[in-house]
Amino acid sequence: MMLCHPVPLPDASWLRSFRRRLPAWFRRHARELPWRRNRDPYAVWVSEIMLQQTQVGTVAGYFDRFLAAFPTIEALAAADEDEVLRLWEGLGYYRRARQLHKAARIIVAEHGGTFPTDPEIVRRLPGIGRYTAGAILSIAFDARVPILEANTLRLFSRLLAYNGDSQASAGQQLLWAMAETVLPRRGSGRMNQSLMELGSEVCTARAPRCRQCPVAALCRANQQGRQFDIPRPKVKRAVEVVRQAVVIVRRRGRVLLLRWPAGGRFGRLWDFPRFPLDSVRPADVRRELAENVLALTGVVVAPERLVKTLTHGVTRFRITLECYEAKFLSNGKSAATTLETRWLRPRELEKCPLSSTGRKLAGLLQVREVGA
Ligand code: SF4
Repeated sequence: MMLCHPVPLPDASWLRSFRRRLPAWFRRHARELPWRRNRDPYAVWVSEIMLQQTQVGTVAGYFDRFLAAFPTIEALAAADEDEVLRLWEGLGYYRRARQLHKAARIIVAEHGGTFPTDPEIVRRLPGIGRYTAGAILSIAFDARVPILEANTLRLFSRLLAYNGDSQASAGQQLLWAMAETVLPRRGSGRMNQSLMELGSEVCTARAPRCRQCPVAALCRANQQGRQFDIPRPKVKRAVEVVRQAVVIVRRRGRVLLLRWPAGGRFGRLWDFPRFPLDSVRPADVRRELAENVLALTGVVVAPERLVKTLTHGVTRFRITLECYEAKFLSNGKSAATTLETRWLRPRELEKCPLSSTGRKLAGLLQVREVGA
């Protein structure tokens, strides 16, 4: 069925010129990135998952460490979940790590440890959507499969001078059709990488460098002087200020940890008891700490002093985290917590996957233990 797009796709002569110019530019300007050293589908897959919602500069170190620890799909599948999460620690969005681990186990169990090449099968693996499947299959196997992510979405919108809603159905159909149209018969992996590189390094969100752009002569937004208006800016959601507490409960040289369930921001990570403290008045803080620790862990505590206040940002939230100490009193009789808990020595926290703030507190405890 012939689809009617809101703006026309480029013609054959435009495509010939585009397919010549962009890969030639990429050959000269591609950044040296660890995951570009080879086309092993496993390495490409790991890099693509890490790069979702994370900057290239942050991913580089994590990628090398991860592949050194789990050099093959089999090694990842055989690993303990805690080891995988520990190596992911600090990258955030821990669901990605758990899904990667789960998918590795499926590949070993159902495909003999070989990464599948059928796009339908690949897209059924946990954590792999249309974009990620396209990136892995095109880069690793040179399959003619399109990709569309933040960089290419912006680039295609400008090349076509499309100022409609890129997330709505008509916009998505247009931009995926463009992503497919620009692919050559051979060299789709290189073309997809060139597109992402151009979007990330030249056709940037705030300041596109049109003078250095190898396809400027083909760009409708550039011709119309509308590159700063396309794509339409998203409405920014206001920053929300959040106050939370975390409690370090001590008992004979050990501290109390709980494990968050799968799903949610800290799914399957270990943590100190943590909870919101938003509208709690100073006079009620101690009671609130004791009640929340009991509800989360089933442990009765006597809250003590505030030891540290950390501030950090997560997406649109500005979080102030108040870190308190508390003394163990007893195990509560009636508390019905379902969370797993552990008492660990500070140095034993080294092996536990923790959130970034949890790791900061663990570091603080170790310094104290060494100094004690
Ligand atoms: Fe982007 Fe400018 Fe190149 Fe057009 S000419 S693709 S707006 S960098």
